[in-house]
Amino acid sequence: MVPDVDTAQAQALLLDLLSIPGKSREELAVQNRIRDLLTSWGVPGVAITIDDAHRKAPGGGETGNLIVKLPGTKRGPRRLLMAHVDTVPICVGTQPVIDGDYVRSANPATGLGGDDRGGVATVLTAVREILVNQLPHPPLTIFLPVQEEIGLIGARYCSVNKLGKPALAFNWDGNEPHTICVGATGDDLIEIEVTGIASHAGVHPELGVNAAAITSVAIADLVANGWHGLVRKGRKQGTSNIGVVNGGEATNVVMPLLKLRAEARSHDPAFRAKIVDAYRKAFVRAAKSLTTADGRKGSINFHSEMKYEAFRLAEDAPVVTVTEQTLVAFGMEPLRVIGNGGLDANWMAAHGVPAVTLGCGQRAIHTVNEHLHLPSYFQACRIAVALATGAVA
Ligand SMILES: [Zn+2]
Repeated sequence: MVPDVDTAQAQALLLDLLSIPGKSREELAVQNRIRDLLTSWGVPGVAITIDDAHRKAPGGGETGNLIVKLPGTKRGPRRLLMAHVDTVPICVGTQPVIDGDYVRSANPATGLGGDDRGGVATVLTAVREILVNQLPHPPLTIFLPVQEEIGLIGARYCSVNKLGKPALAFNWDGNEPHTICVGATGDDLIEIEVTGIASHAGVHPELGVNAAAITSVAIADLVANGWHGLVRKGRKQGTSNIGVVNGGEATNVVMPLLKLRAEARSHDPAFRAKIVDAYRKAFVRAAKSLTTADGRKGSINFHSEMKYEAFRLAEDAPVVTVTEQTLVAFGMEPLRVIGNGGLDANWMAAHGVPAVTLGCGQRAIHTVNEHLHLPSYFQACRIAVALATGAVA
């Protein structure tokens, strides 16, 4: 038998969590609320830990990841349920209201924050159902990371040893309850400083090298050779984007310095490295191609770093088969998907914790039109109870 949930309680919990502001790095208020809820359901204070991810994170933050460990009431490998607590800034000021089958923000200037308070409410509803109804369950870890939206920071810097070595991990941060994300792309940050040579633009332009000119030669090269935007080379595929360009202060100075930020993504780490290398070569070539009248050249300072690595769960990974069997028991048709954005699951994979990512009806995320489909959310809650208890598979 598949479990059911108290939808009135699940809805109240959702609205409660949505209404608390908590953009990335400012999650303390919502975390305190979650701690109070857990305590009210009988979770002992000692079972709740906050790790020090915010102290390891370069940008700081109010608080770390919340981790709850519950001993099993039946035998079985440890299972982990997770969802990130932060929202994107556009959701601060949200006024969640029910509108038929949907939850929206009554404030037209904000998103809802269903990404990812919907996920958090899904996980907490499962905890509540288990504790209130004393449902038998294997050892459980609840993991609610901070700072997902600014680069998967909480999951990246989490205290892995505090998670209790879960065998199966379920993350609610997708769109629909039946979509199982089993892999996602990897992402490299590229930072380039283009140094030109300053000179008076009217008196002696020939004695300067314009950093913007170097940059445009390099970008034209990347575009012409298929390394910008959608990148396809034989059977290899990835993307790249120049996202931020800053340079210059006056029209009468040959621009001496320009700074650029770009990214490269691919599921294939070696191909991602090739894209990054194409950027490096294009800028170095461009700097060599422009010379002052007296033979001087500009230069390139190139930096790249991995933001998160791609991952792909094995076809027959237990976490995938358990999730599929559970969805089938609910009469649903599981759909395996691969993501082109990063997920906390990327870092879970890197930490040795294989996690699938599921949805709970979040739609149009990161926009003022964001809404959440309530029937999908309730279904996600039922699925979460089933996955946490192992009642089905
Ligand atoms: Zn999210």
